[in-house]
Amino acid sequence: MRLFGTNGVRGVVNEDMTPELALKLGKAIGSYFEGNIAIATDTRTGNEMLKNAVISGLISTGNNVMDAKIAPSPALQYYVKNTDVDAGVIITASHNPPQFDGIKVIDRDGTELGKEKEEKIEEIFFKENFRKKAWNEIGRVYDTDILDFYIEGILSLSDVEKIKEKGFKVVTDCGNGAGSYTMPYLAGSVAKVVSLNAHPDGNFPGRMPEPTRENIRDLMATVKATGADIGVAYDGDADRAIFVDENGNYVDGDKSLAAMAGYMVEKKGGVVVTPVSTSSCVEEYVKSKGGSVIYTKVGSPIVARKMIEIKAVFGGEENGGLIFPQHQYCRDAGMSTIAMLELMAKKDKPLSEIIAEIPKYAIYKTKVECKEKSKMMNEIKSKISGKMDFTDGIKVFEDDGWVLIRPSGTEPIIRIYAESMDEEKARKMAERYRNMIKDIASNL
Ligand code: MG
Repeated sequence: MRLFGTNGVRGVVNEDMTPELALKLGKAIGSYFEGNIAIATDTRTGNEMLKNAVISGLISTGNNVMDAKIAPSPALQYYVKNTDVDAGVIITASHNPPQFDGIKVIDRDGTELGKEKEEKIEEIFFKENFRKKAWNEIGRVYDTDILDFYIEGILSLSDVEKIKEKGFKVVTDCGNGAGSYTMPYLAGSVAKVVSLNAHPDGNFPGRMPEPTRENIRDLMATVKATGADIGVAYDGDADRAIFVDENGNYVDGDKSLAAMAGYMVEKKGGVVVTPVSTSSCVEEYVKSKGGSVIYTKVGSPIVARKMIEIKAVFGGEENGGLIFPQHQYCRDAGMSTIAMLELMAKKDKPLSEIIAEIPKYAIYKTKVECKEKSKMMNEIKSKISGKMDFTDGIKVFEDDGWVLIRPSGTEPIIRIYAESMDEEKARKMAERYRNMIKDIASNL
């Protein structure tokens, strides 16, 4: 039986994510690690309930807890990586709707806990094999403030003077999430800031936590209305950043990924790591700057691990998750914000012009309902030919572009992504495979 999904343990508050579960998980995590464990939360309504239960479990098994309160996930990860803390726990449901919450474990090096270690914690959890401590051996809880440490860490890696010279105006949109106490101050240390939705509120009154085009209309309008140089929207736990250019236009995540990847390759040369679902614009742009791209399965911890393995210069995903190895091996929206300002300052160009250099591709996404996903994937494999890649699902290369067919990790659906230079061609390719999969499904 599995407890951890692709994003730690996640579910609806007081239905899946109960205090009983959190206590037991806290005891399991506390029995696996031994020492000092840091904990932080985003801004969700379930956080106090879940955090206190997790803390009870952690100290009952003999650990001390450093409570960092509301902090971006990457801030807690940076703290774990750079201090002698033994592990971290983050209470967050990232970009999910308000009713969700989750519990994620961070390893001593600041990366998300690998699958093998998760399985060990699961085993302790299910067997209730918790470490026993006597009354005088239980741990203590200390308050800690990690935000200045995080902000200073980012600024120490950036050309702060060059950014300041430009006198940029930045609109930050924290979406009432974990970035609220961090991002306006971080941006404010190098630029003028207009701040939106920076009061922590788990009902997310400003906007929903995922920084989609529809959700960040207020930010787009505010950038235009205030004559700002750039807008940045964060997801609920502030590890992903989505940008808005000086004209108030939404910048697709694959474009900001390409721009940053190109900049890093220009500076240092080397390899960029990204999942197979990423637009070809990234590889094309990186190659034009003399670098190369390695593809992985979908998922930011997988990208991060590959980056460590091959000493990549940069990595990231199309959803606004950018990974800067000189800083840490996880998505980091604070670092993304300052790095984007540095890029604009060094190039001496507005963001719209930087983005205009990125090759234009159209991605069309669709899906088919399917319960027997692995049987379906085998059937599809036997029915198609040509140049294919099996890194994650099936990626088929055609003259006009590529199609990626992947079973969803959580739902009974097969996802289809098609990319081409031409929007209509991308749609047609996706529809062709969709019809084929529907045909197979009717005979399964
Ligand atoms: Mg997130």
